[in-house]
Amino acid sequence: MEIIDGKKISAQVKEEIAIEVKKIVDAGERAPKLAAIIVGNDGASETYVGHKEKACNQVGFESVVLRFPETITQDELLAEVKKLNDDETVDGFIIQLPLPNHIDDQIIIEAIDPKKDVDGFHPVNMGRMVIGLPAYVSATPDGIVELIKRYNIETSGKNCVVIGRSNIVGKPIANLMLQKGMDSTVTICHSRTKNLKEIAAQADILIVALGAAEFVTADMVKDGATVIDVGITRVKSDKTKNGWKLLGDVKYDEVAPKCSFITPVPGGVGPMTIVSLMKNTLAARRKEYYK
Ligand code: NAD
Repeated sequence: MEIIDGKKISAQVKEEIAIEVKKIVDAGERAPKLAAIIVGNDGASETYVGHKEKACNQVGFESVVLRFPETITQDELLAEVKKLNDDETVDGFIIQLPLPNHIDDQIIIEAIDPKKDVDGFHPVNMGRMVIGLPAYVSATPDGIVELIKRYNIETSGKNCVVIGRSNIVGKPIANLMLQKGMDSTVTICHSRTKNLKEIAAQADILIVALGAAEFVTADMVKDGATVIDVGITRVKSDKTKNGWKLLGDVKYDEVAPKCSFITPVPGGVGPMTIVSLMKNTLAARRKEYYK
Protein backbone atom coordinates (compact mmCIF):
# COMPACT_ATOMS: atom_id res chain seq x y z
CA MET A 1 0.00 0.00 0.00
CA GLU A 2 1.31 3.44 -0.92
CA ILE A 3 0.07 6.64 0.69
CA ILE A 4 -0.51 9.40 -1.85
CA ASP A 5 1.30 12.41 -0.43
CA GLY A 6 -0.62 15.51 -1.50
CA LYS A 7 1.65 17.80 0.49
CA LYS A 8 4.76 16.57 -1.30
CA ILE A 9 3.17 16.75 -4.76
CA SER A 10 1.71 20.19 -4.15
CA ALA A 11 5.15 21.47 -3.12
CA GLN A 12 6.62 19.95 -6.30
CA VAL A 13 4.00 21.53 -8.56
CA LYS A 14 4.50 24.90 -6.87
CA GLU A 15 8.24 24.69 -7.55
CA GLU A 16 7.54 23.89 -11.20
CA ILE A 17 5.17 26.86 -11.47
CA ALA A 18 7.75 29.14 -9.81
CA ILE A 19 10.31 28.14 -12.47
CA GLU A 20 7.85 29.03 -15.24
CA VAL A 21 7.04 32.37 -13.61
CA LYS A 22 10.73 33.17 -13.37
CA LYS A 23 11.10 32.50 -17.09
CA ILE A 24 8.28 34.95 -17.84
CA VAL A 25 9.74 37.63 -15.59
CA ASP A 26 13.31 37.05 -16.85
CA ALA A 27 12.00 37.63 -20.36
CA GLY A 28 10.93 41.09 -19.20
CA GLU A 29 7.24 40.29 -19.06
CA ARG A 30 4.70 40.86 -16.34
CA ALA A 31 4.23 38.11 -13.69
CA PRO A 32 0.83 36.38 -13.63
CA LYS A 33 -1.71 38.17 -11.45
CA LEU A 34 -4.58 36.60 -9.51
CA ALA A 35 -7.32 38.67 -7.90
CA ALA A 36 -9.77 37.47 -5.26
CA ILE A 37 -13.07 39.03 -4.28
CA ILE A 38 -14.25 38.48 -0.75
CA VAL A 39 -17.61 39.71 0.51
CA GLY A 40 -18.44 40.13 4.20
CA ASN A 41 -16.48 38.91 7.21
CA ASP A 42 -16.62 35.14 6.90
CA GLY A 43 -13.70 33.73 8.90
CA ALA A 44 -13.34 30.60 6.76
CA SER A 45 -13.31 32.66 3.54
CA GLU A 46 -10.59 34.91 4.98
CA THR A 47 -8.52 31.83 5.84
CA TYR A 48 -8.90 30.31 2.36
CA VAL A 49 -8.06 33.58 0.62
CA GLY A 50 -5.09 34.01 2.97
CA HIS A 51 -3.76 30.59 1.88
CA LYS A 52 -4.20 31.53 -1.77
CA GLU A 53 -2.32 34.83 -1.28
CA LYS A 54 0.53 32.96 0.41
CA ALA A 55 0.70 30.45 -2.45
CA CYS A 56 0.78 33.33 -4.95
CA ASN A 57 3.79 34.80 -3.14
CA GLN A 58 5.54 31.43 -3.11
CA VAL A 59 5.33 30.99 -6.88
CA GLY A 60 6.04 34.64 -7.75
CA PHE A 61 2.54 35.72 -8.79
CA GLU A 62 1.14 39.11 -8.05
CA SER A 63 -2.06 38.94 -6.07
CA VAL A 64 -4.70 41.33 -4.87
CA VAL A 65 -7.65 40.81 -2.53
CA LEU A 66 -10.68 43.04 -3.00
CA ARG A 67 -12.86 43.16 0.11
CA PHE A 68 -16.45 44.36 0.06
CA PRO A 69 -18.95 44.73 2.90
CA GLU A 70 -21.77 42.24 3.45
CA THR A 71 -24.15 45.02 2.36
CA ILE A 72 -22.84 45.27 -1.21
CA THR A 73 -25.72 44.87 -3.69
CA GLN A 74 -25.73 42.33 -6.47
CA ASP A 75 -25.49 45.11 -9.08
CA GLU A 76 -22.52 46.68 -7.31
CA LEU A 77 -20.78 43.33 -7.17
CA LEU A 78 -21.52 42.73 -10.86
CA ALA A 79 -19.87 46.10 -11.59
CA GLU A 80 -16.76 44.96 -9.67
CA VAL A 81 -16.69 41.72 -11.68
CA LYS A 82 -16.88 43.73 -14.88
CA LYS A 83 -13.94 45.90 -13.75
CA LEU A 84 -11.82 42.77 -13.27
CA ASN A 85 -12.98 41.36 -16.62
CA ASP A 86 -11.76 44.57 -18.26
CA ASP A 87 -8.51 44.93 -16.30
CA GLU A 88 -5.73 43.75 -18.59
CA THR A 89 -3.27 43.42 -15.72
CA VAL A 90 -5.42 40.75 -14.03
CA ASP A 91 -5.07 37.32 -15.64
CA GLY A 92 -7.59 35.48 -13.51
CA PHE A 93 -9.84 36.05 -10.54
CA ILE A 94 -11.95 34.17 -8.07
CA ILE A 95 -14.96 35.07 -6.01
CA GLN A 96 -14.84 33.41 -2.64
CA LEU A 97 -18.11 31.56 -2.01
CA PRO A 98 -20.53 31.52 -0.29
CA LEU A 99 -21.87 35.01 -1.01
CA PRO A 100 -24.49 36.65 1.22
CA ASN A 101 -28.07 35.41 0.72
CA HIS A 102 -29.26 38.50 -1.20
CA ILE A 103 -26.72 37.77 -3.96
CA ASP A 104 -27.29 34.98 -6.47
CA ASP A 105 -23.97 33.04 -6.73
CA GLN A 106 -24.84 31.73 -10.17
CA ILE A 107 -25.50 35.20 -11.65
CA ILE A 108 -22.14 36.38 -10.35
CA ILE A 109 -20.30 33.29 -11.63
CA GLU A 110 -21.82 33.69 -15.08
CA ALA A 111 -20.73 37.35 -15.17
CA ILE A 112 -17.05 36.31 -14.98
CA ASP A 113 -15.26 36.34 -18.32
CA PRO A 114 -14.64 32.58 -18.92
CA LYS A 115 -11.09 33.49 -20.00
CA LYS A 116 -10.42 34.71 -16.45
CA ASP A 117 -12.49 32.10 -14.61
CA VAL A 118 -9.56 30.32 -12.96
CA ASP A 119 -11.89 28.59 -10.48
CA GLY A 120 -13.46 26.85 -13.48
CA PHE A 121 -17.02 27.36 -12.23
CA HIS A 122 -18.39 29.18 -15.31
CA PRO A 123 -20.67 26.97 -17.46
CA VAL A 124 -18.45 27.70 -20.48
CA ASN A 125 -15.45 26.14 -18.74
CA MET A 126 -17.53 23.25 -17.39
CA GLY A 127 -18.95 22.64 -20.87
CA ARG A 128 -15.57 22.86 -22.58
CA MET A 129 -14.16 20.39 -20.07
CA VAL A 130 -17.01 17.94 -20.72
CA ILE A 131 -16.44 17.95 -24.49
CA GLY A 132 -12.69 17.66 -24.05
CA LEU A 133 -11.65 21.20 -25.02
CA PRO A 134 -8.93 23.03 -23.08
CA ALA A 135 -10.61 24.65 -20.07
CA TYR A 136 -10.00 25.82 -16.55
CA VAL A 137 -10.94 22.81 -14.45
CA SER A 138 -12.06 23.45 -10.90
CA ALA A 139 -9.41 22.94 -8.27
CA THR A 140 -10.41 19.75 -6.47
CA PRO A 141 -11.03 17.53 -9.52
CA ASP A 142 -7.94 18.92 -11.23
CA GLY A 143 -5.90 18.17 -8.11
CA ILE A 144 -7.16 14.58 -8.05
CA VAL A 145 -6.14 14.03 -11.68
CA GLU A 146 -2.71 15.51 -10.95
CA LEU A 147 -2.22 13.07 -8.04
CA ILE A 148 -3.33 10.08 -10.13
CA LYS A 149 -0.94 11.03 -12.95
CA ARG A 150 2.03 11.76 -10.70
CA TYR A 151 1.67 8.38 -9.00
CA ASN A 152 1.43 6.70 -12.42
CA ILE A 153 -1.83 5.02 -11.45
CA GLU A 154 -3.24 3.09 -14.40
CA THR A 155 -6.65 4.48 -15.38
CA SER A 156 -7.21 3.16 -18.90
CA GLY A 157 -10.06 0.65 -18.99
CA LYS A 158 -10.27 0.63 -15.21
CA ASN A 159 -13.55 0.75 -13.32
CA CYS A 160 -13.77 4.12 -11.63
CA VAL A 161 -16.58 4.68 -9.16
CA VAL A 162 -17.30 8.23 -7.97
CA ILE A 163 -19.47 8.64 -4.87
CA GLY A 164 -21.10 12.10 -4.94
CA ARG A 165 -22.48 14.18 -7.80
CA SER A 166 -21.83 17.79 -6.76
CA ASN A 167 -20.96 20.37 -9.40
CA ILE A 168 -17.62 21.14 -7.79
CA VAL A 169 -16.34 17.59 -7.24
CA GLY A 170 -18.44 14.56 -8.28
CA LYS A 171 -19.62 15.60 -11.74
CA PRO A 172 -16.35 17.14 -12.94
CA ILE A 173 -14.10 14.34 -11.65
CA ALA A 174 -16.38 11.71 -13.20
CA ASN A 175 -16.09 13.54 -16.54
CA LEU A 176 -12.33 13.90 -16.28
CA MET A 177 -11.87 10.19 -15.57
CA LEU A 178 -13.92 9.49 -18.70
CA GLN A 179 -11.90 11.77 -21.01
CA LYS A 180 -9.52 10.45 -23.62
CA GLY A 181 -6.19 9.98 -21.90
CA MET A 182 -7.77 8.85 -18.62
CA ASP A 183 -10.09 6.36 -20.35
CA SER A 184 -11.77 4.90 -17.28
CA THR A 185 -15.17 3.25 -17.25
CA VAL A 186 -17.01 5.52 -14.87
CA THR A 187 -19.98 4.95 -12.58
CA ILE A 188 -21.42 7.74 -10.45
CA CYS A 189 -23.18 6.92 -7.18
CA HIS A 190 -25.26 9.40 -5.20
CA SER A 191 -27.77 9.63 -2.38
CA ARG A 192 -30.45 7.71 -4.33
CA THR A 193 -28.19 4.92 -5.56
CA LYS A 194 -29.62 1.57 -4.43
CA ASN A 195 -26.75 -0.91 -4.41
CA LEU A 196 -23.91 1.48 -3.62
CA LYS A 197 -21.87 -1.02 -1.61
CA GLU A 198 -21.80 -3.55 -4.43
CA ILE A 199 -20.93 -0.90 -7.03
CA ALA A 200 -18.15 0.58 -4.87
CA ALA A 201 -16.68 -2.88 -4.35
CA GLN A 202 -16.22 -3.23 -8.14
CA ALA A 203 -14.02 -0.12 -8.33
CA ASP A 204 -10.39 -0.22 -9.32
CA ILE A 205 -10.38 3.50 -8.53
CA LEU A 206 -12.83 4.72 -5.89
CA ILE A 207 -13.25 8.49 -5.57
CA VAL A 208 -15.29 9.44 -2.54
CA ALA A 209 -16.84 12.92 -2.19
CA LEU A 210 -20.04 12.84 -0.21
CA GLY A 211 -19.15 14.59 3.03
CA ALA A 212 -20.07 11.79 5.47
CA ALA A 213 -17.25 10.93 7.88
CA GLU A 214 -15.89 7.36 7.53
CA PHE A 215 -18.75 6.30 5.24
CA VAL A 216 -16.62 3.91 3.17
CA THR A 217 -15.74 0.77 5.08
CA ALA A 218 -13.40 -2.11 4.16
CA ASP A 219 -16.23 -4.29 2.83
CA MET A 220 -16.94 -1.64 0.15
CA VAL A 221 -13.41 -1.71 -1.26
CA LYS A 222 -11.85 -4.22 -3.64
CA ASP A 223 -8.40 -5.59 -2.80
CA GLY A 224 -5.73 -3.55 -4.54
CA ALA A 225 -8.02 -0.58 -5.30
CA THR A 226 -6.90 3.04 -5.40
CA VAL A 227 -8.97 5.13 -3.01
CA ILE A 228 -9.17 8.91 -3.30
CA ASP A 229 -10.84 10.47 -0.27
CA VAL A 230 -12.12 13.99 -0.88
CA GLY A 231 -14.31 14.32 2.20
CA ILE A 232 -13.46 16.63 5.06
CA THR A 233 -15.56 16.59 8.21
CA ARG A 234 -14.50 18.37 11.39
CA VAL A 235 -15.30 16.34 14.48
CA LYS A 236 -14.67 16.87 18.18
CA SER A 237 -11.62 15.12 19.57
CA ASP A 238 -10.07 14.91 23.01
CA LYS A 239 -6.76 13.85 21.47
CA THR A 240 -5.87 17.15 19.78
CA LYS A 241 -4.87 20.46 21.35
CA ASN A 242 -7.62 22.46 19.67
CA GLY A 243 -10.31 19.88 20.45
CA TRP A 244 -11.03 19.10 16.75
CA LYS A 245 -9.82 16.68 14.14
CA LEU A 246 -10.54 16.16 10.45
CA LEU A 247 -12.04 12.95 9.14
CA GLY A 248 -12.35 11.83 5.56
CA ASP A 249 -15.23 9.95 3.94
CA VAL A 250 -13.21 6.74 4.20
CA LYS A 251 -12.59 4.65 7.32
CA TYR A 252 -8.89 4.95 6.74
CA ASP A 253 -7.51 2.44 9.26
CA GLU A 254 -9.50 -0.50 7.94
CA VAL A 255 -9.53 0.49 4.25
CA ALA A 256 -5.87 1.46 3.79
CA PRO A 257 -4.41 -2.08 4.22
CA LYS A 258 -6.58 -3.30 1.28
CA CYS A 259 -5.50 -0.55 -1.13
CA SER A 260 -2.68 -0.22 -3.58
CA PHE A 261 -2.87 3.59 -3.20
CA ILE A 262 -4.83 5.79 -0.81
CA THR A 263 -5.03 9.51 0.01
CA PRO A 264 -4.95 10.41 3.70
CA VAL A 265 -7.11 13.14 5.28
CA PRO A 266 -5.62 15.62 5.87
CA GLY A 267 -2.62 15.76 3.51
CA GLY A 268 -4.09 14.03 0.43
CA VAL A 269 -6.43 15.88 -1.92
CA GLY A 270 -6.67 19.04 0.22
CA PRO A 271 -3.20 20.52 -0.46
CA MET A 272 -3.66 20.03 -4.22
CA THR A 273 -6.55 22.46 -4.58
CA ILE A 274 -4.43 25.58 -4.21
CA VAL A 275 -1.85 24.44 -6.75
CA SER A 276 -4.55 23.77 -9.30
CA LEU A 277 -5.65 27.39 -8.95
CA MET A 278 -2.03 28.45 -9.47
CA LYS A 279 -1.79 26.22 -12.57
CA ASN A 280 -4.93 27.82 -14.00
CA THR A 281 -3.61 31.33 -13.34
CA LEU A 282 -0.34 30.53 -15.11
CA ALA A 283 -2.33 29.13 -18.06
CA ALA A 284 -4.43 32.32 -18.06
CA ARG A 285 -1.29 34.48 -18.16
CA ARG A 286 -0.02 32.50 -21.13
CA LYS A 287 -3.47 32.52 -22.77
CA GLU A 288 -3.12 28.76 -23.19
CA TYR A 289 -6.79 27.89 -23.42
CA TYR A 290 -8.29 31.01 -24.96
CA LYS A 291 -6.55 33.31 -27.42
P1 NAD B 1 -22.06 18.16 -1.64
O1 NAD B 1 -22.77 18.12 -0.32
O2 NAD B 1 -22.31 19.28 -2.57
O3 NAD B 1 -22.35 16.82 -2.42
C1 NAD B 1 -22.38 15.59 -1.77
C2 NAD B 1 -22.82 14.53 -2.75
O4 NAD B 1 -22.80 13.28 -2.09
C3 NAD B 1 -24.21 14.74 -3.31
O5 NAD B 1 -24.13 14.64 -4.70
C4 NAD B 1 -25.03 13.59 -2.74
O6 NAD B 1 -25.89 13.02 -3.71
C5 NAD B 1 -23.98 12.57 -2.36
N1 NAD B 1 -24.40 11.87 -1.16
C6 NAD B 1 -24.79 12.38 0.02
N2 NAD B 1 -25.09 11.40 0.87
C7 NAD B 1 -24.91 10.24 0.23
C8 NAD B 1 -25.05 8.87 0.57
N3 NAD B 1 -25.46 8.51 1.77
N4 NAD B 1 -24.76 7.96 -0.35
C9 NAD B 1 -24.32 8.31 -1.57
N5 NAD B 1 -24.15 9.58 -1.96
C10 NAD B 1 -24.44 10.54 -1.08
O7 NAD B 1 -20.53 18.02 -1.26
P2 NAD B 1 -19.18 18.43 -2.06
O8 NAD B 1 -19.07 19.91 -2.13
O9 NAD B 1 -19.02 17.61 -3.28
O10 NAD B 1 -18.10 17.94 -0.97
C11 NAD B 1 -18.03 16.59 -0.57
C12 NAD B 1 -17.01 16.46 0.54
O11 NAD B 1 -15.76 16.83 0.04
C13 NAD B 1 -17.25 17.36 1.75
O12 NAD B 1 -16.80 16.68 2.90
C14 NAD B 1 -16.37 18.55 1.50
O13 NAD B 1 -15.97 19.20 2.69
C15 NAD B 1 -15.22 17.88 0.82
N6 NAD B 1 -14.44 18.74 -0.08
C16 NAD B 1 -13.09 18.72 0.07
C17 NAD B 1 -12.29 19.45 -0.76
C18 NAD B 1 -10.81 19.38 -0.60
O14 NAD B 1 -10.12 20.29 -0.93
N7 NAD B 1 -10.28 18.26 -0.10
C19 NAD B 1 -12.86 20.26 -1.75
C20 NAD B 1 -14.24 20.25 -1.90
C21 NAD B 1 -15.02 19.48 -1.06
